[in-house]
Amino acid sequence: MKEFDTVIGLEVHVQLNTEAKIFCSCPTEFEAPPNTNICPVCCGYPGTLPVFNEGALRLGVRAGLALNCRINKSIYFERKNYFYPDLPKNYQISQYASPLGYQGFLQLSPERKVGIDRVHLEEDAGKLIHKQGYSLADFNRAGIPLLEIVSAPDIRSPQEAFDYLACLKLILQYIGVSTCDMEKGYLRCDANISLKEKESKTFGTKVELKNMNSFKGVRAALEYEQTRQAGRIRAGEKIIQETRLWDVQRLKTFSMRSKEEAHDYRYFPDPDLPDFAVSDQLIAQEKESLGELPSQRRKRFIEQYRLSGKESSLLIENKPLADFFEQVLKFYHDSQKVHKLLFGPFLEQVNLLEGGFDSVKISAKDLAKVVQYFQEGKINNIAVRKILSLAVPAEKSVDRIIKEEKLTQISDQVGLEDIVDNVLSENSKAATEYKQGKTKAVQFLVGQAMKKTRGRASPQAVRDILERRLKE
Ligand SMILES: [Zn+2]
Repeated sequence: MKEFDTVIGLEVHVQLNTEAKIFCSCPTEFEAPPNTNICPVCCGYPGTLPVFNEGALRLGVRAGLALNCRINKSIYFERKNYFYPDLPKNYQISQYASPLGYQGFLQLSPERKVGIDRVHLEEDAGKLIHKQGYSLADFNRAGIPLLEIVSAPDIRSPQEAFDYLACLKLILQYIGVSTCDMEKGYLRCDANISLKEKESKTFGTKVELKNMNSFKGVRAALEYEQTRQAGRIRAGEKIIQETRLWDVQRLKTFSMRSKEEAHDYRYFPDPDLPDFAVSDQLIAQEKESLGELPSQRRKRFIEQYRLSGKESSLLIENKPLADFFEQVLKFYHDSQKVHKLLFGPFLEQVNLLEGGFDSVKISAKDLAKVVQYFQEGKINNIAVRKILSLAVPAEKSVDRIIKEEKLTQISDQVGLEDIVDNVLSENSKAATEYKQGKTKAVQFLVGQAMKKTRGRASPQAVRDILERRLKE
């Protein structure tokens, strides 16, 4: 895109981590049987009154603060009016003129900052399930609290959009605002994109993109759209302001509706809800509860544990793993050694588990023991793998496994010498080959000796003895 600048803005909806809906006390649990988590309020029965959930306000403020927003000290809700079968009230309670947070930013890297125009609270709509010839409505989701986060048009490439989403998700997960589980629809993203000629001061016509259900999907849709728009502009054609849907099968965007058909939502203040003051005390409490943000933790890991930037990033991207890493360090202090085990044999085992890290059973204390025993020479590499294969998926003590499986390393020198002697007499051909200059043969002999010890010897110790013997 040499002759064009790409201008992208993202609109992200995340489901807030509250137990109750935003304007009634219905639960928010996922996959409850259809229309069981509903009441007259979230179904919009006449004469009912919404009651604002303070938990949603708190999480919204917390997210606003983490995104460096200014917080509105007085907020009110507005009705966004439209008709759709999944919307029992025929309006959605949202915020329009007085968003909870505004003028924030997200620091993607030391050099790149993306503005956050606004964050605001609103309720989710229900869900339609389309069947052959008819549709069913499930209102369990109606009234679930959402936070809408709107970026400034500061994003300059599809990859940067991807990075922004990854960074945003991590922050929201760290501060406990949302699980951001995209498969459950807890994070949804719409994008808008336009191209402008390099020297031009005015923005091009923007196109809205919907229906992307992964970060990779967002990036792919933006890449497609970038190419499509450039092609049109080069051919002297106009870009139509419209909403386009991403087709994940055909890897294309296609037009859903043009601007002319776009809705006029006739926003007006909801007469059933008063103005709410956001007190300094509440803001201070939420600031306090922010805790350590991912970027701060990344920096601390580099300094405190002498990890590289990349190692640190990989760890903090997986919060439970990063927490576990720090727990293990309480029992064994060498961060390098613990990191090496964690990212080597430990993750190998974790990757075999169906539930991933969530299903790990080994305690931090026991994992620290594995590192310690290995460092002390009590167990070797093979034993480490064996222990982890048994202790990671099931609750089994490391000490017991070592005892039951007889995994203690043979460090008795005389015993090893005997084994090597045996191996040499049984494999005289390989020994001769080694002496004739085929040094690779030693590898075979080490293997034979390890077999005899059932993997309990130190391969290096065996090799040392073998090489000494073969040179005699
Ligand atoms: Zn309800």
